[in-house]
Amino acid sequence: MARKRPRTEPPPRWSEPLLAPRSRPEIPGTGDAFRGVARPIERADAAEMREAKPTTRTTTPKRFHLSSVRELHTGVGSAQDAGASVNYTRAPAWIQFEPDGDAVVAVAGGCPVARWDVRGNTVDVAALARDARAESPSSPNASPSSLLVSIREDARRKRQGHAVSLNETNGTTFVSRALVLGFHSAREAREARATLSPSSAAKKDFDTLADGRTMRDDDDAPKRKSTAVTTEDEDDLFTRKIDIGSAERYFSYYASLAEQQNMLQDRVRTGTYFTAILEHRAAFEGAIVMDVGAGSGVLSCFAALAGARRVYAVEASDMADHCARLVASDARLRDVVKVIKGRVESEATRREILEDLSKGLSKSPLTDSRVFDVLVSEPMGTMLLNERMIESFLIARDVFLKPRGGAMFPRAARMHCAPYEDAALRDEIENKAAFWTCASAKDFYGIDVSVLGDAARKAVFAQPVVDAFDPAILLAPPATFEFDFSRKKKQTLMTSESSAAETSEETRPSGAFALAAEHLESLRLEADFVMHRGGAVHGVAWWFDVEFDVRRPGGEPGPHRRFLTTAPGAPTTHWFQIRAPIRDEFGVLERVEKNTRLSVATTMAAGSDQSYAVTSRLEVLKAGGSTPGTRREPNAALGSWNLKDPYYRQLHWPQPGYTQAQTERWYGDETT
Ligand code: SAH
Repeated sequence: MARKRPRTEPPPRWSEPLLAPRSRPEIPGTGDAFRGVARPIERADAAEMREAKPTTRTTTPKRFHLSSVRELHTGVGSAQDAGASVNYTRAPAWIQFEPDGDAVVAVAGGCPVARWDVRGNTVDVAALARDARAESPSSPNASPSSLLVSIREDARRKRQGHAVSLNETNGTTFVSRALVLGFHSAREAREARATLSPSSAAKKDFDTLADGRTMRDDDDAPKRKSTAVTTEDEDDLFTRKIDIGSAERYFSYYASLAEQQNMLQDRVRTGTYFTAILEHRAAFEGAIVMDVGAGSGVLSCFAALAGARRVYAVEASDMADHCARLVASDARLRDVVKVIKGRVESEATRREILEDLSKGLSKSPLTDSRVFDVLVSEPMGTMLLNERMIESFLIARDVFLKPRGGAMFPRAARMHCAPYEDAALRDEIENKAAFWTCASAKDFYGIDVSVLGDAARKAVFAQPVVDAFDPAILLAPPATFEFDFSRKKKQTLMTSESSAAETSEETRPSGAFALAAEHLESLRLEADFVMHRGGAVHGVAWWFDVEFDVRRPGGEPGPHRRFLTTAPGAPTTHWFQIRAPIRDEFGVLERVEKNTRLSVATTMAAGSDQSYAVTSRLEVLKAGGSTPGTRREPNAALGSWNLKDPYYRQLHWPQPGYTQAQTERWYGDETT
């Protein structure tokens, strides 16, 4: 007979698969201590990124401003029209207008490479030339093209908006490569456009540059083809920011049962959602629930089993059809779960839900869709934010969640990062480019291909490494950034309370505002580490967790608070961890000693490809701290990574099996 053991918390009523331990393990980044500062980017200062000079940090983060970044326009014109030009040997991937700063930043290979002051509508071309050359690969064989920047001015300036075209020239013609519209929102851009007279040249410019993507009147909006992206409404918060090709690939990926299986079989993931939902049964019982991005519908099923009154399973991909079949096959589900095939951002989705709600649950037709008690979703991508689906979760919150008392499930997410040492990984990455850099590259069938060595190294180091690593490689306790998804009016964008007394007062953000989808368009994450052992810094490791909890705004954590963690050392999930390897010889030849302070400033810039360009600037701080005026050692490194193009170093994630011993350890032995 099994021995009874005391238990601190009531057992879940359901038998469970592999679950996260009840008492959270000692895994870096899963503790409650927060270190580091995260703030939205107000200016991605390229000069700051380039020079290893002390930076002045803002004391109070200003309100976040959105700038729509798009590469929309491709046209051909005459070089003469465009004015001054400078040599530039690398076409920027995109440029970003900074609404507050009257400046434009060019980002190449995910890294801000140049910044221009455009105040007063003039471009400092000299600075542009200098900046562009300074960052160009000095390959003598690269054929230089030219970069032209022209700024259009009109009524939009009043709204802090500019249209900027970035043109690549070749002889006397130029090809327009990119466009930036710097408005606080696409809506503002549209309002600004409406202020221009229909026949004005400015309006034409505006439309040409915007290529109809966000700016045209609805009646001449281009028609698109894609099941997932054309569920009627073309123009919504999703289509405005996401490239249609990217969205098509994305939703056809999720339309595959094999990909859904991949996620379902991640027992840490699915088991933790299952447990968390069932443990929070009180929040689900009798509730109106939305499953944002339902996929196969598994979370909708869990919500129904937890007693939900009605569950809307919103899924944009063709997986919605499978989901509907699954739900219809089960008597416990078919009258509760309603599958809606469409994007959660689309007006058609909202209308369909309102109609159904009006029929079933409300006596009179509903107009306000903010009636949902719980929004459940699994929107996390690698490095938490990849795929940009958390933005959809937040948009759904604003449209559907009850203004009072509604719960986001998960309630919050946290990103953690720490410097790591891994010489073997570094060699492995270096070796990927060896074809271009080794001695024999000088004579490849008589051709010297080593001139491409730098570019090849840069490309392999720009790939974030996805695998599970041993937490022993971490050189400092991790920094943590919290994203609170709930809809309190007053909250910080990211919790940045510091357990490290060293974090200076001035780096603490004091502004309080609700996390909105736009905040995730560009982020700046700043952290100061204290090395807990000496070692070579080979890069920055990242992981995340999400927290399930139902609590009152500003309230204490509830009794069933639970984390789903992807931390190193915890059971591996299909997200693994991410490492951003640095290319420079920073800390590689030179060991960084124990107790040395290391600052890491990371920017994440979202792209229309549903991913991010990530840059980090690492700097060893001279002992004594990071207070202004402290002399810093010139030991700094800059890295940039494309989150869309990771190096999957590990394809399997062995997960420990579920055993009776685990049940006993975590829950006591009543189940036996
Ligand atoms: N909830 C499921 C699937 C998670 S994967 C599970 O936990 O197993 C994310 C799913 O969200 C994918 O199936 C994807 O197609 C869907 N999705 C992503 N963005 C969406 C959006 N904006 N609107 C509707 N569905 C979306």
